[in-house]
Amino acid sequence: MQSIERDVVVVGAGPSGLTAAHRLRQAGLRVAVLEARDRVGGRTWTDTIDGAMLEIGGQWVSPDQTALIALLDELGLRTFARYREGENIYLDAEGRPVRYCGETFPTSERTRAEMDKLIALLDELAAEIGPHEPWAHPRARELDTVSFHHWLRANSDDEEACANIGLFIAGGMLTKPAHAFSALQAILMAASAGSFSNLVDEDFILDKRVVGGMQQVSERLAEKLGDDVFLGNPVRTLHWPEGEEAGAPGRVRAVADGVAVDARFAVLAVPPNLYSRISYVPPLPRRQHQMHQHQSLGLVIKVHAVYDTPFWREEGLSGTCFGAGALVQEIYDNTNFEDPRGTLVAFVADEKADAVFELSAAERKAAILSSMAGYLGEKALNPVVYYESDWGSEEWTRGAYAASYDLGGLHRYGKDQLTPVGPILFSSSDLAAEGYQHVDGAVRMGEDTARRILDALGSPATATAASGAPAH
Ligand SMILES: Cc1cc2nc3c(=O)[nH]c(=O)nc-3n(C[C@H](O)[C@H](O)[C@H](O)COP(=O)(O)OP(=O)(O)OC[C@H]3O[C@@H](n4cnc5c(N)ncnc54)[C@H](O)[C@@H]3O)c2cc1C
Repeated sequence: MQSIERDVVVVGAGPSGLTAAHRLRQAGLRVAVLEARDRVGGRTWTDTIDGAMLEIGGQWVSPDQTALIALLDELGLRTFARYREGENIYLDAEGRPVRYCGETFPTSERTRAEMDKLIALLDELAAEIGPHEPWAHPRARELDTVSFHHWLRANSDDEEACANIGLFIAGGMLTKPAHAFSALQAILMAASAGSFSNLVDEDFILDKRVVGGMQQVSERLAEKLGDDVFLGNPVRTLHWPEGEEAGAPGRVRAVADGVAVDARFAVLAVPPNLYSRISYVPPLPRRQHQMHQHQSLGLVIKVHAVYDTPFWREEGLSGTCFGAGALVQEIYDNTNFEDPRGTLVAFVADEKADAVFELSAAERKAAILSSMAGYLGEKALNPVVYYESDWGSEEWTRGAYAASYDLGGLHRYGKDQLTPVGPILFSSSDLAAEGYQHVDGAVRMGEDTARRILDALGSPATATAASGAPAH
């Protein structure tokens, strides 16, 4: 076992951990990043499957995600717009495909009015509560102890309107059934994107992609860090000094499979559901033991279907489809930059994902493609490449897209989620305010965490001198 010494050890080489490490290195500190997988990028992963480049994990960038946009610029990465010309398709309450233009689903006047009412209510709450401290709002407890499902139905008696609005946050974002998380959690999701209206506007929230893939953000950061990124090294044990002030430097020792790092700070840049995969010596305090049991990953199957041509475009369709009651709830044109082939991405979330995972792979594929054909016709049945991103099977993630609190957890624990434990700090997209559960939030958290460490150390130059070793 190799034993090394650094100022900061970062656990996890996703966008959050790598951003923190990069900023700390830029400030003159010595860092090591320990990563469980044999690749960097975490929940961003661009891979070639049967000759098709696929974004297996996170991919879209929206205009409010300014931290990510600035980092893309800094790293020399370009973006391109999602294809959105032509008509969209909405599956009506009877499951019939209806073509429409613009942002409003082609429902009855009444359902539309009810949807507008719910959107206005959620916009108002998101603006008032904001993404930073939703737990501190006077109505936090009230809104955190009612499920989003029931909150919607308490505010509207139109089932189609409730199902449609539920879809945007439940299947579409938190990827949990709307009965499993609170109205406050839904409001945080909306506030983190600027408003609920932004979240329901696919042209805003799913605006751009990175040419060549989102994983390059992590790959380029890792290149800069060079030999200080240790792949294939899950951290098994973290020793930390009890009794140190929260957020102050202390002696930590992170022990991974092939390397042990002694440092003055540890940054846990893994999703919150994985904190308890690490053994802590001494154990973490009671509050963290409790809190970490209430943060869990959602579940969604991201389905990639590549066709010889984007056949829907020839039919005047954008490829964008919504149907709250269908197996596949959302579809988008996900064709790669300057690719003559056409790619659709489709999503099967929460309990529907559970149900299709009970089928054989062939039955599941047939059920998913048949649901896609319900929107886009028979041509959808025969992709040349078909792939399901199955993050629930990934030991070092265990779901998709991200972690959120269970009912009542956000107001109960939220205020302590970023409180350091001695010299251990927490950094994850799943703890972010703006960009919550997104790559932008991961980047913001990485930058904040680096800033907090630098603040605690005073001038970086002093810090490096005090550690007795030169900066890289
Ligand atoms: C299918 C899917 C689609 C998504 N779509 C989008 C999208 O379109 N736009 C968007 O902005 N976001 C999207 N996201 C979310 C986005 O990918 C995440 O928010 C982001 O990757 C989180 O970054 P992170 O660094 O906080 O965590 P992660 O990316 O999860 O990185 C954490 C890292 O820690 C490692 N690790 C875990 N345990 C240990 C251990 N004990 N020791 C060492 N290493 C460990 C993991 O292997 C991983 O590399 C999507 C996610 C998924 C799964």
